[in-house]
Amino acid sequence: PRRVVTGVQPTGSMHIGNYFGAVRRCVRLQDQGEDLMVFVADLHSLTTHQDPARLQENTLEVTACLLASGLDPSRTVLFAQSAVSRHAEMAWVLTCLATHARLAHLPQYKEKAAAMKEVPLGLLLYPVLQAADILLYRATHVPVGADQLQHLQVASQLVRTFHHRYGRAFPTPRPLLPEEGADRVRSLRDPARKMSKSDAEAKSRVLLSDPDDLIALKIRKAVTDFTPQVTFEPETRPGVANLVRIHCLAEDKTPEEAVEEADGLTTGQYKALVAAALARALRPVRAEAAAAAAGARCARAAAPPGRAAGRPPA
Ligand code: ATP
Ligand code: MG
Repeated sequence: PRRVVTGVQPTGSMHIGNYFGAVRRCVRLQDQGEDLMVFVADLHSLTTHQDPARLQENTLEVTACLLASGLDPSRTVLFAQSAVSRHAEMAWVLTCLATHARLAHLPQYKEKAAAMKEVPLGLLLYPVLQAADILLYRATHVPVGADQLQHLQVASQLVRTFHHRYGRAFPTPRPLLPEEGADRVRSLRDPARKMSKSDAEAKSRVLLSDPDDLIALKIRKAVTDFTPQVTFEPETRPGVANLVRIHCLAEDKTPEEAVEEADGLTTGQYKALVAAALARALRPVRAEAAAAAAGARCARAAAPPGRAAGRPPA
């Protein structure tokens, strides 16, 4: 039987790459009746420095976004990673099977480590913890964006090593990649990079919480090129291609259909059309998330911090 497991880090507000690349697909899998587990990967987010208060805030916000996107806790197992201490225990077992050489060569590690003065070991071990998340629940399928493919290869390799050493125990997890386009939504400021929560430039991403006028501003400022026509040429015109993809994701259409719709428009005029389409697609999610987050804020204001942190009342 299939079991689908995936996580989202509470490293910041969810952006449209997370939404179209992972979360919306999970909702569709849920609605098809799949056995689905989705967690907020708070242990993962400790691999980059996190302010404790911010982390708590972001965990609630990401949870609100997951609920607002349509994940239903009565059909999908929804939880915080740190609530299940076995993630960390399993990670230790796998750490003893992983090699430094393999992990140190992963592009995402190299990229994130390059931006740090002191590199925490946890950053290196990130893919091992991810493998633990997957193996712990004997997941067969993992819906992720293309940025996670290499990490899933590490998980498969760890399964093989584990079986070799201790005997068969786990299915080999397979990636469930989104349709071309959603697999890697690009940064609006630098289309060579993927859109990321942890990118220092706020204008590089559209958040699920952004109001319509901010969406319009970010899309208007998106880096494109000096050719006025709209075409879909990811290799030579990555900035414009990214806008076409976002348009497609927002309206469930193909690049050909999007380019046809843009016929006669300059890229400047096309940006307004894409922003409007995106705003329409995100509006219901944003409204739901705002309602959920407001509830969390009210509840927190009503609960003394000591008890909220799990300590017994004095
Ligand atoms: P961070 O920069 O902190 O790593 P992130 O934006 O990469 O944050 P994650 O929490 O690491 O987000 O990833 C959550 C899910 O979103 C994963 O399945 C990942 O593959 C997917 N994802 C992340 N960025 C993109 C993107 N730009 N396009 C498509 N999918 C993405
Ligand atoms: Mg990431």
